[in-house]
Amino acid sequence: MDIVVATNNKGKLAEIKKILKDHNVLSQNDVGAFVDVDETGTTYEENALLKAQAVRAYTDKIIIADDSGLEVDVLGGEPGLYSARYAGEGTTPDQGMDKLLAKLAGFSFKEKTARFICCITLLMPSGTVHTFRGECEGFITDQKCGEHGFGFDPVFWVESCGKTFAEISDEEKNRISHRYKALNMLKEFLDEL
Ligand code: IMP
Repeated sequence: MDIVVATNNKGKLAEIKKILKDHNVLSQNDVGAFVDVDETGTTYEENALLKAQAVRAYTDKIIIADDSGLEVDVLGGEPGLYSARYAGEGTTPDQGMDKLLAKLAGFSFKEKTARFICCITLLMPSGTVHTFRGECEGFITDQKCGEHGFGFDPVFWVESCGKTFAEISDEEKNRISHRYKALNMLKEFLDEL
């Protein structure tokens, strides 16, 4: 099945391609959609739908979009919807992590519980919309560890592997991550079609 992913995030696209390896996964640029959507929604679901709808003008194929974020409990769920631009518009993931680590200085490791959330929206050629949500629990480390992955991976530590997402291989991350969980539900849904 051809599936177009509405994202400009290369890290996300690479993960989605690996997880949906039984399908022909195309990027939005592959179908000529050089768009960058303002994430004006108030939920992950709304933002994912905005991204998928922006690509509809360029293709009749199935479109999926991912809106995701990191929620830290002692910060009341920050950075949440604003994870990609936590340190301000146009800043790097490194700057986002620096801001997060600075805000969490003084909290013990055990207090720094967090979770990644991933919402995948499926926009069918008919216009029908389906949404799948995956979550992955973890803790925020005191410093960045590891070189793999993208975004906040170097500061997100998962108990089941005793490492950060940036210290494990793509294959390992794709067995436990929030994105894997949401995409697995999507896969099962597509298989039943
Ligand atoms: P958005 O979905 O485009 O709003 O961006 C989500 C942001 O959340 C990313 O830019 C990352 O900062 C963060 N994020 C989401 N999923 C992951 C992940 O799997 N690893 C690391 N950071 C992530």
